[in-house]
Amino acid sequence: MGYRLLREEMNKLLQALKKNHRVFAPMLLPGKGRFSDTDLIGYGEINDIEEVVFDRKSYFSPKEVFYPITQTLFYFSPGEYREPQLDNRGIILFCRSCDIHAVARLDKIMLENGPYPDTYYLQLRNKLKFVLLDCPSSFTNCFCVSMGTQHAENYSFSLRPENGAYLCDVKEDIEGLFASLGEPWEVTPLFVQQNDITVALPKITEEQVASIITHNLWEEYKTRCIACGRCNTSCPTCSCFTMQDLFYEDNPACGERRRVWASCQVDGFTDMAGGHSFRQDKGQRMRFKVMHKVYDFEKRFGLPMCVGCGRCDDVCPEYISFANCVNKLTTALQEVKQHD
Ligand code: SF4
Ligand code: SF4
Repeated sequence: MGYRLLREEMNKLLQALKKNHRVFAPMLLPGKGRFSDTDLIGYGEINDIEEVVFDRKSYFSPKEVFYPITQTLFYFSPGEYREPQLDNRGIILFCRSCDIHAVARLDKIMLENGPYPDTYYLQLRNKLKFVLLDCPSSFTNCFCVSMGTQHAENYSFSLRPENGAYLCDVKEDIEGLFASLGEPWEVTPLFVQQNDITVALPKITEEQVASIITHNLWEEYKTRCIACGRCNTSCPTCSCFTMQDLFYEDNPACGERRRVWASCQVDGFTDMAGGHSFRQDKGQRMRFKVMHKVYDFEKRFGLPMCVGCGRCDDVCPEYISFANCVNKLTTALQEVKQHD
């Protein structure tokens, strides 16, 4: 069922939703850009529908809303511990098709990879409802069509601004708000049909893995990559974290355990007890990341990890393109096959 709402009606709907939900959307974050006096499109809690940025891609992905950059898991003191209280409101997340697919990838790792689901993730994940932002056209560096993530069905309602109003395809009329505030309207969400960038995914067999690891295609990244980790922090599907125990200065017997996002590209990620560290070479870190996104994850879960949002290519200060690297890998593999 579709509806059309004017700005005032959309804001009434938003205010009604906010009684029981926190509502997050891509918005302009003034002064938060990479350079001084520049802005950033990132996720924040909105109060007015006009705060939503529809015509640009967000720098960071929506995952930071339900999988925080820093998350306190528990507080400890001698003889006891307690978990932080959770906000009992639901979470409504405005995001694009690729990012909805990315949450499904995170679910695989956080809920299905081990014998038990990650309860801290699950607590917040269970609160999520999606609002699909239409993608009438592709943004720079997107390759969602190659990854098959340009179309999503898992949303409560879709949203696009058109001719001074908002058009919504409603699958779940939360609290009956659309029926009471909106005008019935024929609405079909708009999805991208084509991207400027095409990525050919490699079909890798187990026998080929050894020759890929030693292939010279990774050499260029040895010097080009500066191990800043931006590609990981902007990626909606990266899920690695590290643990930090904080001991309070005024009482060192008390403190808290936090988990904090980690990056497979930065120094220290592979440090082990005894002073060992593997993958110190940045080319091999690139190989690890790319193979994880297009081979290992698929082998485990039956679909590639990357959803083609292109954010890693948007943010890399060295202009390293993940999409190009995957295409190079596919070409290299064809060459390996020809020589076999
Ligand atoms: S690897 Fe790059 S293109 Fe793929 S999902 Fe992550 S940020 Fe997006
Ligand atoms: S963003 Fe670019 S330079 Fe930074 S770690 Fe990733 S690939 Fe390397």
